[in-house]
Amino acid sequence: MKKKILILMLALLPIFMLGAKNSSSSTSSNSVPATTTSAGQKATPKKSKYIIASDSSFAPFVFQNDNSQYTGIDMDLIKAIAEDQGFTIEITNPGFDAALNAVQSGQADGMIAGMTITDARKETFDFSEPYYTANTILAVKNNSKISSYEDLKGKTVGVKNGTASQTFMENNQKKYGYKIKTFSDASSMYDSLNSGSVAAVMDDEPVVKYSISQGQKLKTPIEGTPAGDTGFAVKKGSNPELIEMFNNGLANLKANGKFQKILDKYLASNSKSSTDTADETTITGLISNNYKQLLQGLGVTIALALLSFAIAMVIGVIFGMFSVSPIKALRIIATVFVDVIRGIPLMILAAFIFWGIPNFIESMTGQQSPINDFVAGTIALSLNSGAYIAEIVRGGIQAVPVGQMEASRSLGISYGTTMRKVILPQAARLMLPNFINQFVIALKDTTIVSAIGLVELFQTGKIIIARNYQSFRMYAILAVLYLVLITILTRLAKRLERRM
Ligand code: GLN
Repeated sequence: MKKKILILMLALLPIFMLGAKNSSSSTSSNSVPATTTSAGQKATPKKSKYIIASDSSFAPFVFQNDNSQYTGIDMDLIKAIAEDQGFTIEITNPGFDAALNAVQSGQADGMIAGMTITDARKETFDFSEPYYTANTILAVKNNSKISSYEDLKGKTVGVKNGTASQTFMENNQKKYGYKIKTFSDASSMYDSLNSGSVAAVMDDEPVVKYSISQGQKLKTPIEGTPAGDTGFAVKKGSNPELIEMFNNGLANLKANGKFQKILDKYLASNSKSSTDTADETTITGLISNNYKQLLQGLGVTIALALLSFAIAMVIGVIFGMFSVSPIKALRIIATVFVDVIRGIPLMILAAFIFWGIPNFIESMTGQQSPINDFVAGTIALSLNSGAYIAEIVRGGIQAVPVGQMEASRSLGISYGTTMRKVILPQAARLMLPNFINQFVIALKDTTIVSAIGLVELFQTGKIIIARNYQSFRMYAILAVLYLVLITILTRLAKRLERRM
């Protein structure tokens, strides 16, 4: 088996080695709106720490550098403002759409992510003074023949969910007759452009121009459309002091020149990003550059799988026993649990726990009650696997001939003792292969909960791709990692099975 995997990897290796390294060109467009807040002011923080949500890849505003640290204009800006105003921040980078949700559900206090100030958003967000002005622009591949919006007729255009570009494309869809494909993050969107599954993408102009300057083989055939100003946001009506501190800090940084320094650091025309270092166009280069990040992601995946499976076993055994219980009420409870959980897609369950419930609690109590993404992911996975395990347990017990229970009971042995001493030992042996199967499914399902922004192995890979666009090799590495991990774990489980 191991040999076969090795041979497969070796066979695929030459394909990974192929691949082009691009060269750089052009600069970015930018403009900074004036600030009306005067410098030299300070507001008082009301919380000991503010959680700030951001995008995961939106260079030059926010992106990961080689050391897996998030950098960019927005990251430097919010840190400098926090320092200037004397408040503490913790930054999370779940992605743009997830960040919008995080602020709305009270998971985060504020967000900075190259976010456009629009009238629609003002209904649900309070914005700071703008710190940047950007166009939204269409990007196509270098060799594309598209040169006007009319040329998009019948073609598919990619946009990132929740963005101003998405709104723009939706508003003009009837006029030009294109299809829209919505992506949850920039990496999958640009991957799809590169692979040709979308003909064009719409994104903020500084972002497109920046990626071109970093060597992406893209062009912008149509002038950008003004999208509006970029600002920092909080949920409408909450954390007003945070907006005040942001405005004060921005004014101070503009006055003392630090703001300009931040912009220059990322936008200066020849600033070749430091992220473009070691050769990431080979499998070995990719691994040696990113192994720390990958191992971290792998650790989260394993922890998530093991922990949630352990909890799921407890849930599953309890509900499985309920479902064969002589007490009708318990049987009904078990059926309802299994039917409800099995009837809800895991991704929706995770989103409901992570975003829905905190949002509900806040609307009831007025208290923000965020839940940690790992905890939410674990709960969702545990419930999901728990429902399936309950069915495995029920099936296992029912597979033991009824005569056994009857014989034991007629000897005067109680239901509980018969279950424990006679039925379960036999049933357990029948259940074991199904448990192993369910564990493999649970491990693979951890990728689904990356949707709530949890940075497990899959999300780690996507973040790396967002930086270097090596989707083919990176997904191949991920596939092999999962394959090896699952093979090792199933081997171990099989050995355990044999011993029993
Ligand atoms: N400026 C765009 C918006 O606010 C995109 C922001 C982003 O993708 N991070 O919708």
